[in-house]
Amino acid sequence: MSTNARSVASRLSSSGFIRTQGFIGGKWVDAYDGKTIEVYNPATGEVITNVACMGGRETKDAITSAHNTFLSWSKLTAAERSRCLRKWFDLIMANKEELGQLMTLEQGKPLDEAMGEVTYGASYIEFYAEEAKRVYGDIIPAALPDRRLFVMKQPVGVVGAITPWNFPLAMITRKVAPALACGCTVVIKPSELTPLTALAAAELSIQAGIPPGAVNVVMGSASDIGEALLASPQVRKITFTGSTTVGKKLMAGAAETVKKVSLELGGNAPCIIFDDADLDVALKGTMATKFRNSGQTCVCANRILVQEGIYDKFSIAFSKAVESMKVGDGFVEGVAQGPIINDSALHKVESFVQDAISKGAKVLIGGKRHSLGMTFYEPTVIGDVKSEMLLAREEVFGPVAPLMKFKTEEEAIHIANDTNAGLAAYMFTTSIKRSWRVSEALEYGLVGINEGQISTEVAPFGGMKQSGLGREGSKYGMDEYLEIKYVCLGNMS
Ligand code: ADP
Repeated sequence: MSTNARSVASRLSSSGFIRTQGFIGGKWVDAYDGKTIEVYNPATGEVITNVACMGGRETKDAITSAHNTFLSWSKLTAAERSRCLRKWFDLIMANKEELGQLMTLEQGKPLDEAMGEVTYGASYIEFYAEEAKRVYGDIIPAALPDRRLFVMKQPVGVVGAITPWNFPLAMITRKVAPALACGCTVVIKPSELTPLTALAAAELSIQAGIPPGAVNVVMGSASDIGEALLASPQVRKITFTGSTTVGKKLMAGAAETVKKVSLELGGNAPCIIFDDADLDVALKGTMATKFRNSGQTCVCANRILVQEGIYDKFSIAFSKAVESMKVGDGFVEGVAQGPIINDSALHKVESFVQDAISKGAKVLIGGKRHSLGMTFYEPTVIGDVKSEMLLAREEVFGPVAPLMKFKTEEEAIHIANDTNAGLAAYMFTTSIKRSWRVSEALEYGLVGINEGQISTEVAPFGGMKQSGLGREGSKYGMDEYLEIKYVCLGNMS
C-alpha cells in the first residue's frame, strides 16, 4: 500500500473502524468454519485486511435473527423508527471522513468522490426517516350501505439486500433505509470486494439505536448466501443492484417462494448531443456522466451520440478535457480518476477497445493501460464508433467514451433505444420542444436534460426493459417494501 493508504488503514483499524466479522443479531461473528477472504486496495494491489467468508449457515441465522426482530421493529410507531434512522444519518455524517477513507481504500474512487458518496448515501437515510411517517392508507367509498372499506399498508417482512462494489455505501442505504422505515428488517450481502464500508455502516446503525437483528451483514460465498436468501420462506423481498445476469438468476430463484423483487441492473446509457446544444454545458455534463467513478456506474454515459454539425467541435473540446484529468491513487490530491476495480474489469475494457479498433474506430485520446500500472487505465475517447461494436452494445464500465455520429433526431432516438437496457439517458439541447419530444420517445427510466448527474434521494431511480424492476429513492421507493391490505368491515347498519 502507498504510505498514505497504509497510514489511513492503520488509523482506521486502531480506531475500530475496520470490522472484519459478519454482523448477525447485533453480534460480530466469524464464519462458522473460520474461513476468511482478503479485501484489496485496488490502487496498490495490497491486502487491507481479511474478512469472514460466510455461506448458507450464517445466512440462515441472519434471516432468523431478522425475522425475530421484525416482530418487534414493525410494531414500533413510525416516529420511533424515524428517530433511529435520523440518528443513523447523523452518525454517518459525523463519520463522513472515516467512511470516505474506508471507501477509497477498498474501492479506489478519489477521496472527494468517496466523501460525496457518503453524503449521497446518508441522504437516503435522512429522507426515509422523514418518509416513515407518511405511510398512508385509504378509505374507499363502499358499494353497499352497511360496509366500510379501507386500505392499510404493512411492511413486507425480512428483506435480502444484495449490493455491488461501485457504491459501497449508497447502494446499501437506498435499500435498507426505506426497508427499515416501513418496518422491515434486512440481511445485507455486500460485494466481497467492498465489505468494509458496509460493516462500518452496520456498526453505526447499532450505535444509532436500531435494534440488534434489524440490520444483519453476511459476506463470502455469493451463490451460497444468495441461495439461502432465495430458499427461505421468511425472506419476503429481494432487492438487488448488480449485473443483469445475476439479477435474472435472482428473479428466477425468487419465483419458488414468490418473493417481491426489485432489480437495478445494467444500463447502456445514451448521451445525445444535438447541434443546438450549448457546447460548454454539454461538455461539463458529458464529463460528469461518463467519468464519475472512473466510468464504473450503471448510469454512466455508455454511448455518446453527437450530431454531425457539432461532432468535430465537440470531439476536439471533449478530448482536451478528458486528457487533462489526473489519474492515480484516490488519496492523492487532485486525482479525478482512480483505478478500475480489478483485473477482469480491466480486461473487459481492453477487449472492448480492441474490438472497436479492429472494426474501424479511432482512438482520439488514451486507449491503453496507464503507466501507473495496476488496473489504472488512461481516460479514453474513441471516435467513429458504430452500432455493431461491443462499445455500443454493452456496458464498458470503465473510463472509455465512445463517440457515435448521427444526422437526425429520429436516427438518434432509434440508436438510443436499440438496446435491451433502459436505465439512464441524457440529452443536450437548447430546444424546449425537442427536450419534451425526445424525453417522451426515450425508453429509459431516468432522463437528464442538460445535466449529467441526476440521481438524488428525492427522485425515483430505476430502469425499464432489462435494466430492472422497481424504483429506489423518493416516495415511490417506499412502495417496494410495503404490502397493500384491503379490509372490508361489514354488518355496519
Ligand atoms: P458486478 O459485475 O457489478 O460485480 P454482480 O452481479 O456480479 O455484479 O455482483 C453484484 C452483487 O451480487 C455482489 O454482491 C455479488 O457478490 C452478488 N452475487 C453475484 N453472484 C450472485 C449469486 N449467484 N447469488 C447472489 N448474489 C450474487
